[in-house]
Amino acid sequence: MFDIHCPACDRRQLVFPSQITAMVNDEQGIVVMYTCWCGAAGAWRTGAAQADAAVAPEHVLAS
Ligand SMILES: [Zn+2]
Repeated sequence: MFDIHCPACDRRQLVFPSQITAMVNDEQGIVVMYTCWCGAAGAWRTGAAQADAAVAPEHVLAS
């Protein structure tokens, strides 16, 4: 469970595990895709690398 600010309903909302639709783990951390209580889809970035996202190098595929 985590809290987000939803731009669609302009409210701070709690998101429960049942509202999570997908999780993506990339080189910048983890992106949790969810559906807000208002029905809008959203994405929340988290993970240890989140703070470095602004200065992260361009995406490079590992070979
Ligand atoms: Zn919402």
